[in-house]
Amino acid sequence: MKFADRVAVVTGASRGIGRAIAEELAAGGAVVIVNYARDADGAAATVEAIENAEGYASVFQADVTDLSAAENLIKYAVTEHGKLDILVNNAGITRDQVIMLMPEEDWDDVLRINLKSAFNCCKAGVRAMMRKRYGRIVNIGSVAGISGNPGQTNYSASKAGLIGFSRALAREVASRKITVNVVAPGFVPTALTNDLPEEIKESSLAGIPLGRWGDPTEVATAVGFLVGEKAGYITGQVLNVDGGMVMA
Ligand code: NAP
Repeated sequence: MKFADRVAVVTGASRGIGRAIAEELAAGGAVVIVNYARDADGAAATVEAIENAEGYASVFQADVTDLSAAENLIKYAVTEHGKLDILVNNAGITRDQVIMLMPEEDWDDVLRINLKSAFNCCKAGVRAMMRKRYGRIVNIGSVAGISGNPGQTNYSASKAGLIGFSRALAREVASRKITVNVVAPGFVPTALTNDLPEEIKESSLAGIPLGRWGDPTEVATAVGFLVGEKAGYITGQVLNVDGGMVMA
């Protein structure tokens, strides 16, 4: 089992990409802590899916924009399971609008949930990893953080911020054998993209060399690779899972 004896925290794992990541890690033998903020039923469904596949998971509610809640999440992993090996900062939202019409709170909310939450969980999690001199951190970015998207100045800034954050942290913690990487998905069908107008969904295909949207499991596969024991020489990198949308 690829992740046997590993303890993992996945933020925002009540649905979508986070659920697929939680399932991928549990299928490899990790004990997975399924975090959510509001969607208790979704988080319970993630745990049920993992248990049905004979994996092990538990739920921990925490709004990870709050530092003390993030600290409690990490503390739960360490007190219940003795350590934290894998941290996937996946929680994220969009609040799309052109800049002239974007309410200030939509800027603040997106930056808090997509970027500050990663700071909070890493600040708490790195301490636990340093003690064991082992750790794998993956932050879920987006191609929007690389190429920018109109109507997403807030979202693109938060995801670009995650890249700089991850690279700085990768340098800080490398001596303790902790790696920090970003997985940057393109278009994936989840609740986040559900409300996009049909014409945007349709026209997006022209910009994707592989000619289709990705599946949450394909993002989870990339995360599984980066958090594996054998990926210990990869840090500070951005792995795009986008059908070739962004090639840089
Ligand atoms: P989703 O289905 O809407 O899931 C978002 C998850 O984040 C939910 O589990 C939600 O749980 C959680 N969450 C939101 N605020 C939270 C908070 N304050 N604390 C803890 N959890 C919180 O979206 P998704 O598409 O799977 O997105 C997952 C990640 O992939 C995000 O970072 C997103 O930016 C990124 N991404 C997605 C796409 C795409 O096309 N779908 C593309 C590029 C990047 P609650 O409802 O319980 O709060």
